[in-house]
Amino acid sequence: MIVQPNDVGWIEVICGPMFSGKTEELIRRLKRAQYAEQNLQVFKPRLDDRYHDDSIVSHDESALSSEPVESVEDIRDRLQPSTEVVGIDESQFFGSELADFAGELAGEGCRVVVAGLDLDYRGEPFEPMPRLMARSEYVTKLLAICVKCGNPANHSYRLASDPQQVLVGSDDEYEARCRRCFQEGYPSSSSESSSEDN
Ligand code: ADP
Ligand code: ZN
Repeated sequence: MIVQPNDVGWIEVICGPMFSGKTEELIRRLKRAQYAEQNLQVFKPRLDDRYHDDSIVSHDESALSSEPVESVEDIRDRLQPSTEVVGIDESQFFGSELADFAGELAGEGCRVVVAGLDLDYRGEPFEPMPRLMARSEYVTKLLAICVKCGNPANHSYRLASDPQQVLVGSDDEYEARCRRCFQEGYPSSSSESSSEDN
C-alpha cells in the first residue's frame, strides 16, 4: 500500500495493458482525494473519445469528470494554482514532455497520478510511460486476463492490421493477451522466443 508523504509532491504511475483496470484504479484513487476535499483536476487527451467527452470512464462504466486536453501545454494552461492532486488518464497519448511536466508539478508539491499503457500493440515500451515510471515514487503495474487462455495478460493485442502506433479503440480492435498468446498472434515477429536455446 502507498504510504503517503506529507508536505511534498510525488508521482504515482498506474500502468498495464488495456482492460487491466488502470482507469478504474485511477478513478478509485482520485475519488478518495475528492472525499478528503482535496483540490483535484483530472485530464485526458481529447483524442480518446471512446466514451463521454468530459469524463474518464472505465470499461466497467465507473466515471469521474475530467477535462479533455490537446497537449501538455494545454494542461499547463488549465491548471489552477489551488490544485493539490492532478490525475491524467491515457497518459501514453501525451509526448515525452509529460515526464518532465509531471516532475515539475511534483516538485511544486502536487500529487500527480498518471495512468497509461506501458507497452504498445507491438509489445514495445510506450513513451512517456517508461520515463514517468523512472521519475515516479510509486509504480503499480496491473494485468488483465488473457482472453485466449486465462493467464495474466500484460499485452494489448491489436486485432486490426493498421500499422500506426496510436489507434484509439476498444473491445473490437484490441484484446488482452498473455505473453505466449501475444507471440502466437504475431508468428513472423516471435524471434524473442528463439532465445529458448540458451
Ligand atoms: P484500462 O483502463 O486498463 O483499459 P478499465 O479500468 O477501463 O481498464 O477496465 C477494466 C475492466 O475491463 C475490468 O474491470 C473488466 O470489467 C473489463 N474487462 C474486459 N475485458 C477484460 C479482460 N480480458 N481482462 C480483465 N478485465 C476485462
Ligand atoms: Zn494466453
